[in-house]
Amino acid sequence: MSSHSVGCRYCKGDGSVKVSIDGVWTDQVCPVCGGAGTMIIQENTVSCRYCKGSGKDKVSIDGVWTDQVCSVCGGTGRVNPRR
Ligand SMILES: [Zn+2]
Ligand SMILES: [Zn+2]
Repeated sequence: MSSHSVGCRYCKGDGSVKVSIDGVWTDQVCPVCGGAGTMIIQENTVSCRYCKGSGKDKVSIDGVWTDQVCSVCGGTGRVNPRR
């Protein structure tokens, strides 16, 4: 089994993401890559169907749609295939 480093899908390699806090858009360190902008994926994984590989899950908080880390793949956009 091998793995390789790719640009973080969640923050698109920026290392930071915008989050809405009390209606104010603020930069936060990416929760998936910890600000590195890259992440390690295993080669035998498949694209997450829940978030369609984006690593993001849209949730509504007080009527504001905000990106959250996908609870299925943990924000990597990749999951282990099920048999
Ligand atoms: Zn990231
Ligand atoms: Zn996902």
